[in-house]
Amino acid sequence: MNAHSLRGFRDILPPESEVFAGAEAAAREVFRLYGYRELRIPTIEAKELFVKSTGDTTDIVEKEMYAFTDQGGREVAVRPEGTPGVVRAYIENNLSQSGRNAKYFYIGGMFRAERPQAGRYREFTQIGAEHIGNPSPFADAENILVLFSILDRLGLAGLSVELNSLGCGGCRKNYRETLLAYLKANLDALCEPCRNRIDRNPLRALDCKADGPALAEKAPKMALCAPCSAHFAKTQELIKAAGREFHVNPNMVRGLDYYTRTVFEVRTSALGSQDAVAGGGRYDDLVKSMGGPQAPAIGWAMGLDRLALLLKDKPRPSADAEAFVVAASEAAREPAFKLLTELRAAGISADSSNFELSLKSQMRSADKSGAAAALILGDDELKNSSCSVKFLKDKREQLTMPAAQLPAELKKLLN
Ligand SMILES: [Zn+2]
Ligand SMILES: [Zn+2]
Repeated sequence: MNAHSLRGFRDILPPESEVFAGAEAAAREVFRLYGYRELRIPTIEAKELFVKSTGDTTDIVEKEMYAFTDQGGREVAVRPEGTPGVVRAYIENNLSQSGRNAKYFYIGGMFRAERPQAGRYREFTQIGAEHIGNPSPFADAENILVLFSILDRLGLAGLSVELNSLGCGGCRKNYRETLLAYLKANLDALCEPCRNRIDRNPLRALDCKADGPALAEKAPKMALCAPCSAHFAKTQELIKAAGREFHVNPNMVRGLDYYTRTVFEVRTSALGSQDAVAGGGRYDDLVKSMGGPQAPAIGWAMGLDRLALLLKDKPRPSADAEAFVVAASEAAREPAFKLLTELRAAGISADSSNFELSLKSQMRSADKSGAAAALILGDDELKNSSCSVKFLKDKREQLTMPAAQLPAELKKLLN
């Protein structure tokens, strides 16, 4: 047995796991304020769900999806992103009929069989927010403000927000022709995969890592129809009115097929290259195309793994125990165990090492634990119904207090 994780997978150890948990808690609080409720979707879905929604010409589906045939001969895939599952759940559970806002968030692992590289893992955690059934630019603005609010709470600086509109089906149809003609006239400038798929999806060339940057300058820009143009203008106006800054990037195309109208990305320069930490957009046709009702929608997803690198040095609540209980004699072991339970019941985090080890060994563990105080029970303490308190992080004198006064007195001493 070789105790190794799979290539591209990793363990998230404390304290990094606490960075993740802190970010998730901040996001949950913001979601509560904005009326987004949690949806827990399956990790594995029918492969077809992602092929049909994310798009069969996207890198995610073409190259990066973990898909396999299960024991029952079904073609399944481990989710590469959250939106298709949320939309499937919305349709399957008739959530359009609930009479409530369909505003959902999810938090969980996503999987892509990318070539492993620094900071990129094959399983990564995403937080996502979807608002389904509201076509108004107010929904766009609100959905984007949720993202701003979460990033605020995380205390991140150096972020830039880019906004664009990809238009509706009508705008896209016209643009598709114009762009296709341009690309065909410039085939030499395209990489092999792009050349092979331009007829199916010319827009993907603009998002291609190889061709996109050069094409962005010269390729014709999309002209929005009047309703799309008004929608985009109103969205921008509402975000500005909320005091948020962004810039419009007419070259931004998101790498998924289902986006319509508003798309956005949050980037940071803090990790070297211009890394996107979050992105999303409107997907007005996806629900219907998957067999659901006409339900225009907008959403985004944020990757926690790279954010965690930015957040790891920020102060956060200590996860160390407040009190470390030590049994200094054999007779004290069970009372010490009882004391642990009493402390925890009173809301004091408490830990111990092995009561059956020597006093010296237990005190060494107490010192390493990061706890503020060691509570020592020995024969003398038992005889006097007391407890000795040794402060581990400051030079306060060791003291002895009546056991009955613990944990109330301890709380005061620790504050
Ligand atoms: Zn349009
Ligand atoms: Zn390309």
